[in-house]
Amino acid sequence: MIAMDLQSERARLILTLRRNGILDQAVLTALEQTPRELFVPETFRRHAYDDSALPIGRGQTISQPFVVALMTEALKLDRRCKVLEVGTGSGYQAAVLSRLSRRVYTVERHKPLLREAESLFRHLDLHNIVTKYGDGATGWLEQAPFDRIIVTAAAMDVPPVLVDQLAVGGRIVVPVGDHDLPQVLLCGTKTEGGLELEEMGDVRFVPLLPGVEADRD
Ligand code: SAH
Repeated sequence: MIAMDLQSERARLILTLRRNGILDQAVLTALEQTPRELFVPETFRRHAYDDSALPIGRGQTISQPFVVALMTEALKLDRRCKVLEVGTGSGYQAAVLSRLSRRVYTVERHKPLLREAESLFRHLDLHNIVTKYGDGATGWLEQAPFDRIIVTAAAMDVPPVLVDQLAVGGRIVVPVGDHDLPQVLLCGTKTEGGLELEEMGDVRFVPLLPGVEADRD
C-alpha cells in the first residue's frame, strides 16, 4: 500500500508535468501507474515525487520525471514497438516504457543496479522487459532492428552503431554533449536517406561510458 501522502504527491507531479507541457495522456498515465518510490533509495523515498533527479548509488541517478516524460513522449510509442534502452539504472524509465510498448530491451553496465531493477520488474509484474548486463553503447545486435531506441546517458554524438540497429521509420532519443556542460536532447527519425534530427532542449545526464563496470559485489 502506498502511503496517502505519496499518492497525493504522485497526483500532484502528474499535474506539474502536464502544466510543463507533457500533453500525451498515455505517457502521463504510464508515469501515474509507475511507483517511483520503489526505484529510489529508501532515504530519498519522501522525495520520490519531486520533479528532480535523485542519486541511486554508484554515482548514477534516476532521471527527473519531466525528462522521463519528455523522452517517452518524443519516442511516439505504440503497443507494437520493440524498444532498446541503453542505461537501465534504477529501471524506472524501462518500467514506464514497458507500459506503452510491446517489449523493452534494456542494457546496464553496473551489475548490482541491473539486479535491483530486475527484481523490481518481477515485483511489478512487468514481464515484457528483457535485461542484459553489458555495454549498451554497442546496442544489442542479436535483437536488432528496434522500432525505438532511448539512451539515458549522455553520448558525445548520436552513436552510429545504434542508428544502424534502428528500423527505417524508427525513432531514437539521446542526450548529446559533454557531461560537465548542459547537453542537448536530440530526437532522430530514421529515413531511407539518413537521420532527421530535432533538438528538444537542454538536459543533464551522467556520461555514457564504454565497457562494463567491474563486478565488485
Ligand atoms: N534510465 C535510468 C537512468 C539511469 S542513469 C533510470 O530510469 O533510472 C544512466 C545509466 O546509464 C547508469 O546506470 C549508467 O551505469 C548507465 N550507463 C552508462 N553507460 C552505459 C553503457 N555504455 N551501457 C549500459 N549502461 C550504461
